[in-house]
Amino acid sequence: MYKEDIELAKKARLNAYTPYSNYNVGACLKCKDGSIYLGCNIENHGLQSICAERTAFVKALSDGKRKFSSIAIVGASAGKESTVKCMPCGYCRQFISEFVDENFTFIVESNGKILTYTIDDLLPNRFKF
Ligand code: ZN
Repeated sequence: MYKEDIELAKKARLNAYTPYSNYNVGACLKCKDGSIYLGCNIENHGLQSICAERTAFVKALSDGKRKFSSIAIVGASAGKESTVKCMPCGYCRQFISEFVDENFTFIVESNGKILTYTIDDLLPNRFKF
């Protein structure tokens, strides 16, 4: 069911800019209206890097999207297949929690098996105003 999302995240991963970590991540964000936003991680020498997940969200949010259904995330060292699950960092979890509800699905792949999580799985008792 989520295989296409994973494949699109892998496509997005090809655009990662990671001269410092060489760890390339791709994300495929689906909005409730059916639109899709891809993102990759982008590093720079000032260390103000942005993760693939937040790249996808920022692209969608700046287009006016506010309702989201899922995000697929893949990551691995440059030139390697993403076979080990790549989970969102703490910063991304908190950032994403602003914009999603309990039905939003995080999709990752681990050795060919697709795993899903909710925001409550990833960030229980999260900060809210
Ligand atoms: Zn992150």
